[in-house]
Amino acid sequence: MTKFVYLFNEGNTTMKELLGGKGANLAEMTNIGLPVPFGFTISTEACNSYYDNNKAISSELREQILRALSELESKTGKKLGDPSNPLLVSVRSGAVFSMPGMMDTILNLGMNAETVVGMAKLTNNARFAYDSYRRFIQMFSDVVLGVDTFYFEQYLEETREAKGYTHDPEMKAEDWMEVIEGYKKIVQKHTKQAFPEDPEEQLFLAVNAVFDSWNNQRAKVYRRLNRIPDHLGTAVNIQSMVFGNMGEDSGTGVAFTRNPSTGEHILYGEYLINAQGEDVVAGIRTPEPIQALEKDMPAVFKQFTDTCKKLESHYLDMQDIEFTVERGKLYILQTRNGKRTAQAAIRIAVEMEEEGIIDKQTALLRVDPEQLDQLLHRRIDDTHVRKQLAKGLPASPGAATGEVVFDADEAEQLASEGVKVILVRPETTPDDIHGIVASQAIVTSRGGMTSHAAVVARGMGKACICGCDALKIDLKEKQFKVGEVIVKHREIITIDGSTGEIMLGEIPMIEPELSAEFKTLLQWADELRDLGVRANADNPEDAKKAMEFGAGGIGLCRTEHMFMDAKRVPFVQRMILAETLTEREEALSHLLPMQQEDFEGIFEAMEGHPVTIRLLDPPLHEFLPDKEELLVDVTKLQILHPDSTELAEKEALLKKVRQLDEFNPMLGHRGCRLGMIHPEIYGMQAKAIFYAVAAIMNKGLPVKPEIMIPLVGHVNELRQMRQLVIDTAKEVEQETGLTFTYTVGTMIEIPRAAITADEIAEEADFFSFGTNDLTQTTFGYSRDDAEGKFLQTYIEEKVLPENPFAVLDQGGVGKLVEMGVQLGRKTKPELKTGICGEHGGEKFSIEFCYKTGLDYVSCSPYRVPLARLAAAQATIRNKKSKEPVY
Ligand code: PEP
Ligand code: MG
Repeated sequence: MTKFVYLFNEGNTTMKELLGGKGANLAEMTNIGLPVPFGFTISTEACNSYYDNNKAISSELREQILRALSELESKTGKKLGDPSNPLLVSVRSGAVFSMPGMMDTILNLGMNAETVVGMAKLTNNARFAYDSYRRFIQMFSDVVLGVDTFYFEQYLEETREAKGYTHDPEMKAEDWMEVIEGYKKIVQKHTKQAFPEDPEEQLFLAVNAVFDSWNNQRAKVYRRLNRIPDHLGTAVNIQSMVFGNMGEDSGTGVAFTRNPSTGEHILYGEYLINAQGEDVVAGIRTPEPIQALEKDMPAVFKQFTDTCKKLESHYLDMQDIEFTVERGKLYILQTRNGKRTAQAAIRIAVEMEEEGIIDKQTALLRVDPEQLDQLLHRRIDDTHVRKQLAKGLPASPGAATGEVVFDADEAEQLASEGVKVILVRPETTPDDIHGIVASQAIVTSRGGMTSHAAVVARGMGKACICGCDALKIDLKEKQFKVGEVIVKHREIITIDGSTGEIMLGEIPMIEPELSAEFKTLLQWADELRDLGVRANADNPEDAKKAMEFGAGGIGLCRTEHMFMDAKRVPFVQRMILAETLTEREEALSHLLPMQQEDFEGIFEAMEGHPVTIRLLDPPLHEFLPDKEELLVDVTKLQILHPDSTELAEKEALLKKVRQLDEFNPMLGHRGCRLGMIHPEIYGMQAKAIFYAVAAIMNKGLPVKPEIMIPLVGHVNELRQMRQLVIDTAKEVEQETGLTFTYTVGTMIEIPRAAITADEIAEEADFFSFGTNDLTQTTFGYSRDDAEGKFLQTYIEEKVLPENPFAVLDQGGVGKLVEMGVQLGRKTKPELKTGICGEHGGEKFSIEFCYKTGLDYVSCSPYRVPLARLAAAQATIRNKKSKEPVY
């Protein structure tokens, strides 16, 4: 018989897969003697068996739950449904990976018309008992019976107003009794059944509902975003209730052992007196900062801070802790590793290493490389005088500008049309997640730093402001007011999530700087990693940025970008339009000094680090005007100015454009095929490179050029182009009297090149895998069209696990990379290998590159820090190290 149910004292932290994160931690905390209300966990295996059993609880599982329940009853001395001493429980989901707010929770289960009387007597607090009962009906009806909370909220509001009250605490026991009757009628009306009064029935219905919530829409979206597998299932935690709403000596709160926004080592959180957990998370009342608890309840505060320290040193990580105080007694309801911003993740990792809590390798593994993106983005320029419209809580750092929208669906819609939006809501709920994903930033008028919006935004690295109560949001009119100022739907605002400020209009932003801790972490990464990181850079500015971000060289300099400059395009067009070789050489002679200047700038910026320069790659028509537009111009000119020279020029251009037109330009006359047909183009480029090398050498500076031939499919192509480069180098050597040190290699971006890599390696000093084209040609998907046409659907419907243009397809394209490396090194063991497709800046692909034995990855300068960290993590995870790796 499979054991599906575990009492809290039967589990521990290593059992996350079976008990979910929450269940494993509750068990662990119980075992280390913390004041955790007792309970039991129904395992994730039980969830899967529920799905296997046509969404029904088997008799075996039912029996185990009832047995655990009776253990819980004897431990607490209370009994479910006993009017004289009722046991009330919470029922919560708890997946293996934390999915905050994505699945369902039910509190106060066990309440009915009889137990509420018992509760009132026992606690001597009828108001509390009836308030708890109505909360339970509302929550249970929403989660289990599918009756929208809105009906209950509306009814409550009407009743409250009719009685002349403004806030819930003014409601008396009798008032709540009346509300309860009204609530039950709502349930009867919407479900055509009476509210279930039998606590055991309530319990099983609730367990079913939690299992079902594993597959609700928001949980599915969250899993997709966070790459959490669907088959894991959720555990269910049944825990005896403690009450934070028993009066002024009770309360509830959430705290982080370190600041989750900045990483600062101080207790950070908030609480509400006389409230239940959902009041804090739902953001309906704005809570007090945790430090105020010291004044309100000094003994509890001391016990709580001691517990926080104990938990942090036990789990060796920053903790996010939920607690409740019931009549002066502290209970810990939950602990988990706290979600944090990138900035906080780095500071916490570095400081914990410095405090001797963790080692460097652990510190490096603690920061998700993807998160670093947040820190490498722009923030508001401090020299700009800010005209603040309103200020809320700085819930998630970073700045953003966008159009105001009030609805998550609209945010998603507009974002898909390329509009930058900021989602403004009174508060957000997990149902808004798709709108949050699509928005630049989130603003709420209610709720604290641990409200849903804040937690989710921080996790995603989006700027967020919460609890900005100066904002009077009118959802019907689609506008908000701050004093006299009205901000309408789709007006532009700028927000600063680091200060909580909201400003009208667009505000100048500046480039980011790396913090001292960030630099320390990257330095550790560099010490540990066995994989080089280079940058893709096409001009001296990008090369400088690359150096600043710690690149070890340039892995790809796309020379065509130098051709695109407005001043150069006329010469490029002249070169393309040339009818004779002499004409073409004349045009090229204008381009040569321009290219040379660029190369000098790049070489100088790179201070002797290797620079891989790729010769011209795109089809030539990319430098000419669009065929359709040209046709329109020519037609107009034929009518209006039939004898003009402009018409003659445009007609000549059109003729050339038609000549160059191809059905499949990406499979057409591009890459080395250009150099093969027009060697004078590659010849000019090689000459420009060697003149630049000579100029740098003459300045006494170091220079390390690597010349790369693109799109090679047959060794003969490379042989000819390599010879051209060597001949050009000799020519310039003779002219300058210098001797150059350089290498000539190729991109591997056509399957045939990977398959014949042993032959190709005869002619190559290095291989650089161009995985953009290699993905295109391996899958046969156009890299320009696939994403807009069918790829999105493929990913949504899981035909493909990922977008192969973003995350390297290890099973297919990756095999070609492996083959290319192995065959290439068979011919030439010293062959240098790297990757310069977009995948070079993506963490999973970086790990693959490490495992495949590449020497380096190359990515955009802004992703270099990410790649340095990912390279270190790949090294730590895959190297057979004697040190323990966490
Ligand atoms: C590639 O194909 O992966 C590559 C880096 O070259 P480009 O993107 O310029 O075609
Ligand atoms: Mg390419």
